[in-house]
Amino acid sequence: MSRGKIYVTDYEYATLEPERMEVEKLGFELVPKQCRTEDDVIRECKDAVALLDQYAPITRKVMEHLPNLRAVGRYGVGVNTVDLEAATENGVCVLNVPDYCQDEVSNHTFSLLLACARKLPVLFDQVQAGEWDYKVSKPISRLRGQTLGLVGFGRIPRMVAEKAKAFSVHVIAYDPYVSRAEAELLGVQLVSLDALLETADLISIHVPLTKDTHHLISVDQLKRMKPTAILVNTSRGQLVDEKALCRALKDGRLAGAGLDVTECEPLEAGSELRGIPNVIITPHAAWYSEEAERELKTKNARNTAEVAAGFDNPAIVNHAVRGKVCLQIRS
Ligand code: NAD
Repeated sequence: MSRGKIYVTDYEYATLEPERMEVEKLGFELVPKQCRTEDDVIRECKDAVALLDQYAPITRKVMEHLPNLRAVGRYGVGVNTVDLEAATENGVCVLNVPDYCQDEVSNHTFSLLLACARKLPVLFDQVQAGEWDYKVSKPISRLRGQTLGLVGFGRIPRMVAEKAKAFSVHVIAYDPYVSRAEAELLGVQLVSLDALLETADLISIHVPLTKDTHHLISVDQLKRMKPTAILVNTSRGQLVDEKALCRALKDGRLAGAGLDVTECEPLEAGSELRGIPNVIITPHAAWYSEEAERELKTKNARNTAEVAAGFDNPAIVNHAVRGKVCLQIRS
């Protein structure tokens, strides 16, 4: 007999076999759904003991209407689709998968940085238009010796910093929760956000989206950047005020932007971002490789099922929930 149902609230994957294998090992049943709204989740996942969530909003209302819910496993690093405060109050453990795609995202970050620094969009567009003239990319400066500023200094930007050594760029970072000594061990100098924005030639954003970081980069921050600077965001679209970014790019107050994430995803057909020269946009693809996708699905299902079965797990992000629920240590 099944121990209970674990619902996939929504998914874009071609198969859920890795998830099915993991949850069945622990005696649960996997039920796939395609919910878009909180009301969809309430209606479709009523008897859930756990949810595996890609983009569906797991709000306070959802948690209050799912009486058996013990765990929500978010497909990814960011948990901004889940109301963490409400989860903790309702004794619901929220898990993420913190370590499945750092290599992919740091590579994608570098791809965007290099493509913008070398003005590949401008060069490619004119070749596509039948022209053949490198001068459309003027001016391009030598990368060696430039300064890369990392906003946030967690797992992914640390890998970016490691890879930056190969290009001989100087790396600085802003992260109020990381010690100077820890950063210096990795050869990175910690600075204030203003100093980073004013000094860096290449700026890459890696902070989580929270109430405090929404529009962390807006009009004032963009004004501080050098007009030759390039901004890359592989974290979350809402960290950057897109209207202000478009204005800065169009007014020539910023040289280029590489965005894997946008304020609204998918990007609207009429978005002002489309068609601005030296802007590259990719469809939230930085995390993806076949290996990362397999790891994400397997880890999310395994960890969430373990918590639903009553075991503690290091992937729980709302640590205070441990004061509300009793979780055993798995031997
Ligand atoms: P992480 O959890 O290892 O690190 C986050 C860092 O941000 C921490 O060091 C923390 O101290 C710092 N931070 C928190 N608030 C801050 C603030 N206000 N200002 C500056 N720093 C702050 O995260 P990570 O693995 O490095 O991932 C970074 C982000 O990348 C995630 O939040 C996630 O949203 C995003 N991400 C995107 C993709 C993609 O496909 N585009 C894939 C994975 C992760």
